[in-house]
Amino acid sequence: MAHAKIIDGKALAADLTEQLASETQQYIDATGTPPCLAVVLVGADPASAVYVRNKGATAQKLGFKSIQETLPETTSQDELIALIETLNQDRSVHGILVQLPLPAHIEESKVINLIAPEKDVDGFHPINVGLLGAGDLDRALVPCTPAGCIRLAKTAIGDDLSGLDAVIIGRSNIVGKPVAQLLLKENCTVTIAHSRTKDLPAVVRRADLVIAAVGRAQMVKGDWIKPGATVVDVGINRVPAPEKGEGKTKLVGDVEFTSASAIAGAITPVPGGVGPMTIAMLMHNTLTAARRQAGIEPR
Ligand code: NAD
Repeated sequence: MAHAKIIDGKALAADLTEQLASETQQYIDATGTPPCLAVVLVGADPASAVYVRNKGATAQKLGFKSIQETLPETTSQDELIALIETLNQDRSVHGILVQLPLPAHIEESKVINLIAPEKDVDGFHPINVGLLGAGDLDRALVPCTPAGCIRLAKTAIGDDLSGLDAVIIGRSNIVGKPVAQLLLKENCTVTIAHSRTKDLPAVVRRADLVIAAVGRAQMVKGDWIKPGATVVDVGINRVPAPEKGEGKTKLVGDVEFTSASAIAGAITPVPGGVGPMTIAMLMHNTLTAARRQAGIEPR
């Protein structure tokens, strides 16, 4: 029977969004213009289109100006680069996000590396990666999903994570590595596990805090979890759900929720955990970028 506290990412994201809306109004009062987020989508991938629409809708709800540039699949790398350069130079645009993945004929890193670092609200530009690595969070723009993971963990554990054993499963540039940097900054003892890690269950059993970012449905089992540990499940995996009807599917995380929630102290659900926080942190980054560009100290 489940006894873990369920960490409600939807509620936490709603609280943060409300706070950001009032800070946005203060920004508008101070500068006379709204923060502006430009989201660039190349091609017609349906999942990407949904993400982009949600980002635009949340930005508008907060009082941001939202620009959506939708380019055809056949857009050349040079055309995309020209658009990025225009957005870089436009002083009314504070945040630029290029929705990934890009079509195969476009070199992703080339495009990301061209985004002005101070407008790189995804935090993927090498300058922001470096600032995060150096622990300079006053200047970095931090990737949204990892930043959301830390806030979710803190709702269960409290603001002081120092000394905790944290195990991150996954070493991607988008989630695993930046989350590790953030947890180091929080004074955790950090282990990054990955596909070549020996005896993963034993490694995970040491953790007071587990961040699972693998992309394998329900891989992490309840008996890998130290009793009372906090579990943040980043994975989003679509699996068949015959119980909902023929051909139906559902989303599950990287953690086997039923068995893990019987042992963990706190756990994020999928959906409704990390996902909603990712968009809220994107808005946070956009407002931070706008304030920095206007010379207003972020609080
Ligand atoms: P990725 O494929 O880039 O990286 C996966 C990592 O898992 C790799 O580092 C790999 O070494 C590790 N791995 C693979 N198999 C393993 C195994 N058997 N044991 C241990 N480690 C293993 O994925 P990603 O971009 O980091 O995303 C991970 C998951 O998080 C995906 O399900 C993705 O959809 C999800 N995600 C969610 C959000 C969100 O907003 N909620 C954002 C980004 C990613």
